[in-house]
Amino acid sequence: MTDWTQVVDAHGAIGRVPVLLDQVEREEAPEAWEELWDRLCLQGETVSPASFTALPRLAVLAPTCAQALELAGAIVRGTLQHPDGEVLLAICSDEIAWLRELVDQQLRTRPADYNRTFGDLLALEGQYHWSASLGDFTDDFYSVSCPHCGSELTIAVGDYGCYSAIRDWDRGDIERRALRPATAEELRGPGRWMHATAVRDEQQRLAEGIRHVFGHAECPACASVFSIAEAHTSANLPPALEVS
Ligand SMILES: [Zn+2]
Repeated sequence: MTDWTQVVDAHGAIGRVPVLLDQVEREEAPEAWEELWDRLCLQGETVSPASFTALPRLAVLAPTCAQALELAGAIVRGTLQHPDGEVLLAICSDEIAWLRELVDQQLRTRPADYNRTFGDLLALEGQYHWSASLGDFTDDFYSVSCPHCGSELTIAVGDYGCYSAIRDWDRGDIERRALRPATAEELRGPGRWMHATAVRDEQQRLAEGIRHVFGHAECPACASVFSIAEAHTSANLPPALEVS
């Protein structure tokens, strides 16, 4: 049993979250969800130990309660926001696997908020930085450093083009070079299953965007060609994992 007296929520309070969970489990206070969001995932991003401790109970509710599944996904997205997030998450790995299955089932129904749900799936798979940075590819920009010369580059994937460029304060994106998207067969690692999931669910824009982000870019400054995903990942590692 969890000792709730030891677990603080986003407001530093103890004891309130289990009361709220009791209420939503008994379906007697729909308004309790609002306070649960506030205490477990403040402003959609701030998590606390109580958030992770609530995951098993949210996982039980999730098959029949969209609110529970969405809140659980939002908490998992915030894992790296808390110093003990990954440790706390590991304690409920069975529930995480279960939530991942539920989110994947939901994606197969092609919900209206597909991209948000897809972001939840990425977080549940441990791809936190992709979960945080992947947009809808209408107008996405990623900042990366060229791994060869260190130039700060902008990667654009969207309706205005798919290119690498140097962002100039006055002139916008200059010296644009067309991206070199990976083919489906060339995709590896997370890019491969992310693309396969998007294709399965007929999310063409998302699938095309993933092929570009997991493809290669040419640096306008030194003309070297590099993996966008590797450059983006290394730029987004948590501080403790950075290699000096
Ligand atoms: Zn370069």
